[in-house]
Amino acid sequence: MPTTPGTVAWHEMDAETALDRLGASPHGLTHEEASSRLGEYGPNEISVARGVSPWRILLHQFTSPLIYILLVAMIVTLAIGHHADAAVIAAVLVVNAVIGFIQEFRAENAMQALLEMVAPRAAVRRDGERREIEARGLVPGDIVLLESGDIVPADLRLIEESNLLVDEAILTGESVAVGKNAATLETGKGASLGDRLNMAFSGTAVASGRGRGVVVATGSRTQIGLIAGEMQATERALTPLQTRMKRFGNLVSVVILAVSVVVFFVGVSRGQSAGEMFLTAVAVAVSAIPEGLPVVMTVALAVGVRRMAKRNAIVRRLPAVETLGSCTVVLSDKTGTLTENRMTAQTLAAGGARYSFRGEGLDPAGEILGADGAQVDPEHNEPLRRALLAGVLNNEADLRRRDDGDGWRAIGDPTEVALLVAAGRAGLDRETLLDEHPRTHHVPFESDRQFSATINRGPDGRESVYVKGAPERVLEMCDRAIGAGGETPLDRESILEQADELARDGLRLLALAAGDTDEALDATRRGEPAGLSFLGLVGMIDPPRAEVRDAVRGCHRSGIRVIMCTGDHAATASAIAGRIGLEPDLEPGATPEVVTGAELARMDDDRLREVVARVRVFARMNPTQKLRIVGALRAIGEVVAVTGDGVNDAPALKAAHIGCAMGQTGTDVAKAASEMVLADDNFATIYAAVEEGRTAFSNIRKATNFLVAGAIGMVLAVLGAFVLGTPIPLLPAQILWVNVVTNGIQDVAMAFEPGERDQLERPPRSMREGVMSVYLIEQSVLVGMLFAVAAIGAYAWEIHQGMSGEYARTAATTMLVVFLALHIGSCRSEFRSIFRKSPLSNPVLLIGTLTALGVHVGSMYLGPTRALLRFEPLEARSWLTIIMFAPLVVVLVEAHKAVRGPGARRARR
Ligand code: ADP
Ligand code: MG
Repeated sequence: MPTTPGTVAWHEMDAETALDRLGASPHGLTHEEASSRLGEYGPNEISVARGVSPWRILLHQFTSPLIYILLVAMIVTLAIGHHADAAVIAAVLVVNAVIGFIQEFRAENAMQALLEMVAPRAAVRRDGERREIEARGLVPGDIVLLESGDIVPADLRLIEESNLLVDEAILTGESVAVGKNAATLETGKGASLGDRLNMAFSGTAVASGRGRGVVVATGSRTQIGLIAGEMQATERALTPLQTRMKRFGNLVSVVILAVSVVVFFVGVSRGQSAGEMFLTAVAVAVSAIPEGLPVVMTVALAVGVRRMAKRNAIVRRLPAVETLGSCTVVLSDKTGTLTENRMTAQTLAAGGARYSFRGEGLDPAGEILGADGAQVDPEHNEPLRRALLAGVLNNEADLRRRDDGDGWRAIGDPTEVALLVAAGRAGLDRETLLDEHPRTHHVPFESDRQFSATINRGPDGRESVYVKGAPERVLEMCDRAIGAGGETPLDRESILEQADELARDGLRLLALAAGDTDEALDATRRGEPAGLSFLGLVGMIDPPRAEVRDAVRGCHRSGIRVIMCTGDHAATASAIAGRIGLEPDLEPGATPEVVTGAELARMDDDRLREVVARVRVFARMNPTQKLRIVGALRAIGEVVAVTGDGVNDAPALKAAHIGCAMGQTGTDVAKAASEMVLADDNFATIYAAVEEGRTAFSNIRKATNFLVAGAIGMVLAVLGAFVLGTPIPLLPAQILWVNVVTNGIQDVAMAFEPGERDQLERPPRSMREGVMSVYLIEQSVLVGMLFAVAAIGAYAWEIHQGMSGEYARTAATTMLVVFLALHIGSCRSEFRSIFRKSPLSNPVLLIGTLTALGVHVGSMYLGPTRALLRFEPLEARSWLTIIMFAPLVVVLVEAHKAVRGPGARRARR
C-alpha cells in the first residue's frame, strides 16, 4: 500500500521514489490493485453538492408576486372570517407549489443525469496497456497519459513529458500556460503550486504537448479539492427568454394589480360588501397573472433537453435550447462531423510510383499493389518501405487485437490509425519497429502546426527525423526527395500538382519526409524541422456520413446556412462539400468556391464580412482563423452554431452562440467551452437539436397563448358584469378553481406537444421575437371576449330559467372549464386546424384535459368540495346548453385561423 497521498511533497522527490512510495510502476496498476485501491480511497470526485437542492426548488415556488398576493389575501380572508375562502386559497397555494416543485425538480434531475453522460474520462495504463476509463475511477498510483485538450483528471507527479504546456489559471489565476518538466525540483519545501513544474494538478487544462504522470492524489485530496469547499454550487442561470418572460410577468402583475384595485373600489362604491369585493379583486388578479408560465417554460425547456438527448445532443447549458431555435448558420468541421472519420489509406505515391492497398477494415493483414495491379514486396522497394516506416514511427495511435480475439481495436487519431493499417498491409508492425527504433524526441501534431515530427534512434545507433503533415507544410522542410534509385532533386511543382489531383477526388492528404543530417536533427529539436528528404504522399478516403446530405438539405429548407471550416486541403474540402450538397444552387459537377487560410490572412475585417456572407467552404484554416470567421458572422447578425474538438477550438466555441463539442473525439477543454455536446460527433445531430429547439419555443408560445386567452377572458367577465350592472358570474373561490384546474393541469401538458413540420420549413425566429405575435394577441382577445360572453350568458340564462344564484354560478364555472378544455385543443397549432391534429399525438395533454374535466365534475358531486366551492349538481338541460355553446370557441378560432392565418404565416417568412 502506498503512503497516504496528498500530504507528501511529491515535487521534491525524483520520479522513481514517487512511483515507489505509491506502489506504482510505469506500466500502470493491475486491474485488481486498482479496484482494491478504489475501495480504500473512494472515487475520484469532489463532493460538493451538485445542482440545486430540493429545498431551494421548493422555496423557489413561493417567490413570485402571485404568491405574495395570495398570501396577503389568505391572511385578510382569515381575519374577516371567511374560512372557506381562506381554505380554497391555501389549497391553491399548495397545489401550485406541488405542481411547480415536481416539474422543476424533475427538470433539474434530468439535467444532472445528462451532464453525467458527458462525465470526464481519462487515458491510463492498466495491466500494461493503454485504457480509457471514467475519471472518477482513478486511484493513487495510476499512470495517466495527458495530451493537449485534456483537463488533468487528478493530481499527478509527471514522469515524462514532451512540450507539455498547462493552463493553471483555475488554481493560480495565472493566465499564461506553464511549461512543465518531469525533472526533480531543486526549489525548497515551500514551492508555490505554480512553481511545482513537475506536477500537473487536477482541473488544470493541457494547452499543448503530451505527458505521463503518476496519480498522487484523487478527489477531495487534490489541490483543487482542498479549495473546492470554498466554491459555491452556482444557481442555474435563467435563459434570455426566461428573463424576458419574468420581466413581462412582473409588468403584467403590476397592471393587473392596478385593475384589481379599481375593481375593488368600483364594487364597494356600488354598495357591494368590502370583504366580497376584496376577494373578487384577488381572484381577478390571480386568474389574470400568468403564474403558470415559469413552470411551463421550465418544463418545455426540460422536455426539449430530454428530446435532444434522445437524438444524441447533450445540452450543457439551458439557454442553448432556446438559441438553437434561432440558429441561422452552422459552422461545421469537416473531418469526423460531416465525414465519418474512418480513414482508409487508398493511395501512396512514393519514389515516382503509385501504390494502392488491399485488405479488410482495421485488420492489418493484406497486400500492397503497384499501378499495374501486381503485388509489390516492400522488402525490395526502398522508397516504399521508407515512406511506410516514417508513417509508423511518427505515430501515436495503437492498433491491437480485441480482448475477445475477434477483430481489431484502434486507439488514437484515425489519420494515424490509417497509416498503421497501411503499413500492416506491407507486413510492418508498430511494436516491433518501435523496439528497434526507440523515440528520443517528439513534436506532437497540433492543428495550427499541421505537422508532427519524431526523432528515433535506429538499430545502428544513428538518429533520424520522421515528419508527417500537410503537403504544403512538409514540402517547405524538404530540399531533396527519395526517388526510385535513391536521392533526387526535389520537384515541388509536380508534387503539389499531384497533391491537387488526389485532393480533387476528395482524398485527405498527408506528406511524409525524413532526414538524418545534423541540420535536420538540430532543426527538429528546435521545433521547426528542415533539410529533410521528401518520401511520398498518402491519400486517404474519409467518406461523408450517410445522414449528412439529408441534414444539410433540411438546414437549407429551414433557412440555415451550413459552412464548412476545415484544416484540410482546399480541393479535398471542395470535393466533399460538393458531395454533401453544401451549395444547393450549384450546377451538377461544379465545385463550390473555397477560401483558404492564406487568402483569409490577407483580408481585413470588412472584406471578411462580405466573404462569410457568401462563401461556404473554408480550407486550411487554423483555429485562430476559425475564431475570426465566427466574429465576422456575428458581426453581420447571424446566430452561429460552431462545432469543435481541439483545445484550440475553445475560443471559437465560446464566441459562438451555440458551441457544439464532439462527444467522442472532442477534448475536455472543448467540451467545457461548449453549450452542447454531440454524443455521436455527427452533423445531423445539430440539425435534430435545432428541430427540438424550435419545437420547445413553439410549445412555450402555444401555452402562453392559452394562458393569455384565459386571463383576458376572466378580466373581461368581471369588468363586463360591472358594466352591465349584473352580479359577477363566478365566486372568487370559483375563479381560483378554474385557474388551478385549467391552468395547473393543462398548460404544462402543452410542453409535451410534438413538433410540427411547419415549424421546420420556416426561416429561423429572430432572437428578439417575443413569445406572442400580433396574430396570437388578436386571437386571444377574441377568445377572451367570447369567454366573457359565455360566463355572463350562462349565469344570466340560468337565472332566467328560475334557478338559484348558486346553480347559475355552477353552470357558468362549468361552461368555462369545458370552454377551456376545448380551447387548449385549438392552441395546439398556431395555424393548422384543430381537426388536423390527432388528440392521441399528445397523450399527456389528452390525459391532462380529461383529468381536469373529471376533477371538476367530481367536485360538483363530492360533499366537501361542493360545500367549499358552493357548487350545485347540474341538470341534464344545463349540460346540454354547455355542450352546445362551448364548442363555439373552436368555431371562432377556426374562423380566425382561416381568415388571418395565411397572412400572418406569410409575414413570418
Ligand atoms: P480537419 O480536422 O479540419 O480535417 P486537421 O487540422 O486535423 O483538419 O488537419 C489538417 C491537415 O493536417 C490535414 O490535411 C493533414 O494533412 C494534416 N494532419 C492531420 N492529422 C495529422 C496527424 N495526426 N499528423 C500529422 N499531420 C496531420
Ligand atoms: Mg482533425
